[in-house]
Amino acid sequence: MSREEWEVNARYNQIQAKIYTVPMRQSKLFRKKTDSIYEITAKGQAILDICNNDSYNDYEKKIISYFTILDGYFDLCPNYVIKRTDFILDILYKIGFTDNEIEEECLNILKNCKNKLNIFDYKLFWMVSFYHDIKFLNLIRNEFNYKGLSNIADYVRSNLTSGQYKDALSSKYRPQGNYDYNMFMEDVEIVYLTMKLKTFIDESSDYIDIYQKILEVVNSYSQEVDSKKIIKFIVDNKDIYEQIYFCLIGKIEEDILKDYFPRQRKSVQEVENIGKIDNTTTKTKTELEAVSSVLKDMAKKRCNYRCELDGVDIESCRYFTDKSENRPYLEVHQFIPREFSNEFVNSIEVIENYVCLCPHCHRLLHHAVDSEKAAAIKRLYDNRIDLLKNKGLIVDLKLLKDIIILTSKLT
Ligand SMILES: [Zn+2]
Ligand SMILES: [Zn+2]
Repeated sequence: MSREEWEVNARYNQIQAKIYTVPMRQSKLFRKKTDSIYEITAKGQAILDICNNDSYNDYEKKIISYFTILDGYFDLCPNYVIKRTDFILDILYKIGFTDNEIEEECLNILKNCKNKLNIFDYKLFWMVSFYHDIKFLNLIRNEFNYKGLSNIADYVRSNLTSGQYKDALSSKYRPQGNYDYNMFMEDVEIVYLTMKLKTFIDESSDYIDIYQKILEVVNSYSQEVDSKKIIKFIVDNKDIYEQIYFCLIGKIEEDILKDYFPRQRKSVQEVENIGKIDNTTTKTKTELEAVSSVLKDMAKKRCNYRCELDGVDIESCRYFTDKSENRPYLEVHQFIPREFSNEFVNSIEVIENYVCLCPHCHRLLHHAVDSEKAAAIKRLYDNRIDLLKNKGLIVDLKLLKDIIILTSKLT
């Protein structure tokens, strides 16, 4: 659909379709084709097929959607579902909650909270809706007589029943708001499943095993999901769900390469001509890695095995000799990170997007405080911005800084 066709939401004066398109693109369901047109990825097609398939109930579709968006990004943050869950857990840990307590509370809610007016009976609900106020959270957690909340709960409940949202508290919980029943139950379920997922990732070595275990968890509080049917879907779409698993565990790309793709040497030109590759399936992602490995080698040759930040005032490059190559050891950094490839009309797999750095500078780029990082980013940016433009890649320095600063917090 072209951007001109997006409908405008009269109430907010926003483009309605955009509200949905942005998260869908970030979930890797779409990618840019031209500046105003998005095309569906293999992963997007799988989820579309499920949506149109009446043999799955809504709840089964929801669980499959959960599996499908796990490796998406949001706010420039890859694997967003896991990072967001960590963020919520950190707050709960800060006020003294343990994993066991949180899991128990979540499970209790998922099993027992069937009425939308009952959400106010759960401590976790108040905590989620006031997560930014640590003082208040501590109060609920430690000092506040839990029953003391029931007066406030009754008050909010009576306002919701009569449809009066005159004060801030009642409006906060109005239907379709951020803190209504459906939203809350979904939050709880995602936190609960993702906590489990994190332990399963540590224990499992196979993608099917992880999805299987999550489905067992779902079955522990809901009978609506037919695990066998969902596993069949996952297996039928192995290429997609295995790739999501690889993203989650951060599987080393070299391993995937060895398993699936015998190295073939190609020229930079040949490799760049392959163009954009859909990275949502294992097969195509492997092709992408093959392309990437050629470009990495070429990039090292092109910079004469010298760090691209060598000679800048604030840096002090450190080299040692690489045992396998008998040359200075260099690491290759992707200037526009792979996670954001769908944001560009043209392929980002071009040699200009590969930056060769000594281990010192590479670590600096990822781990230094923002002020020390800034000069390095600026220098790399100035050196390649025109070259990238020639390959049809237009990058904004501000966005790039945000991307690098944010993603480096995660690795
Ligand atoms: Zn260096
Ligand atoms: Zn890097």
